[in-house]
Amino acid sequence: MARSAVKAGVRRAGVHRGTVNHDGRRGARGKAAGIPRVTLIPGDGVGPEVIDAAVKVIEAAGVKIDWDRQLAGAIALRRFGSPVPEQLLDSLKTTKVALKGPLETRVGEGYRSINVYLRKLFELYANVRPVRTQAGVHTPFRGVDLVVIRENTEDLYAGIEYQVAPGVVESVKIITARASMLIARFAFEYARTHHRHLVTAIHKANIMKLSDGLFLKCAQRVARDYRDIEYKEQIVDAACMRLVTDPQAFDVLLLENLYGDIVSDLCAGLVGGLGFVPGANYGKHGAIFETVHGTAPDIAGKGIANPVAAIKTGALLLDYLGHAGAGDRIRAAVDAVLRAGRVVTPDIGGKAGTADLTAAVIRALK
Ligand code: NAD
Repeated sequence: MARSAVKAGVRRAGVHRGTVNHDGRRGARGKAAGIPRVTLIPGDGVGPEVIDAAVKVIEAAGVKIDWDRQLAGAIALRRFGSPVPEQLLDSLKTTKVALKGPLETRVGEGYRSINVYLRKLFELYANVRPVRTQAGVHTPFRGVDLVVIRENTEDLYAGIEYQVAPGVVESVKIITARASMLIARFAFEYARTHHRHLVTAIHKANIMKLSDGLFLKCAQRVARDYRDIEYKEQIVDAACMRLVTDPQAFDVLLLENLYGDIVSDLCAGLVGGLGFVPGANYGKHGAIFETVHGTAPDIAGKGIANPVAAIKTGALLLDYLGHAGAGDRIRAAVDAVLRAGRVVTPDIGGKAGTADLTAAVIRALK
């Protein structure tokens, strides 16, 4: 993945393909020439339903994309005998950017997570999940506006597990200075380009003194280069409590892989649930855009999945492709529909289906 004009991935914290823009997503200097080709992975479960919604909204926003549709995950295993078919990898190597639905990963059995595999393969080291209170969506929490930045390539997700003896297994937690420095710099750069004031490193270095201790030392080292951004640290258990008692105390959260995964879902709960939080995986040379939520097997195929997270993920893709104006219009349309509160899905007490909410967003765009 080497097509991007951005020199260093850490500077991609501005998250544009193209020239670095220190106003985050606002500028359009990085606008891709011609029609961009993007790998489209509908995914498993509710994936095809919500990804279809995102594609329709992008089209309605007037942005032309040459989608290269590819299968991955359980559906690819059934069709091609592999959850990561060669043609998928070839497509990603060429386009270097994808919009991806969730992929099924069985609990305690089956193949390893394809999501983790793709993030590692393409060195998409930074997982970014903006979490914001949505007007019209009622929750016990007000004024939540934070960004989860999760290291994406190591930690317990390295997948090194083995049986030492019958009844005794080990899972190896890998933390390196290189990956920790990269993600810390990404978080501070993101904070700066998005006009955020505080980075909080979340850890368990009181127990994992070596691994989390190293992560923390790297964050401290990087923080010294960003005197304009406040830096704090919090132990992960206390941070979880604070997130639900005083979420406004957080701005940019910097976490290792596992804590980032767990805290992301907790944060989604602060703003109405998994149906609302978009996400992106950035590397130095490419990006995969995907929601925080999984395949939602309990509601798959019923046409009731909330498409907002996927639609907003599509807006993040447009920012990256240099179509920030269209991304902003999509976000504004989603906000307008949710604020009106007439067309909402059952996850927040409504009766509308995925297609109804998608159509309402498209109407609000016009
Ligand atoms: P999940 O996110 O799929 O679902 C958790 C709960 O949230 C369910 O009750 C579900 O109905 C609800 N939910 C999720 N998305 C929703 C939406 N758009 N609208 C309304 N409700 C929604 O998590 P899970 O059940 O723990 O995982 C199911 C599968 O998804 C597993 O195989 C897991 O490995 C996979 N997964 C994949 C990804 C990914 O591909 N990035 C991420 C998380 C989980």
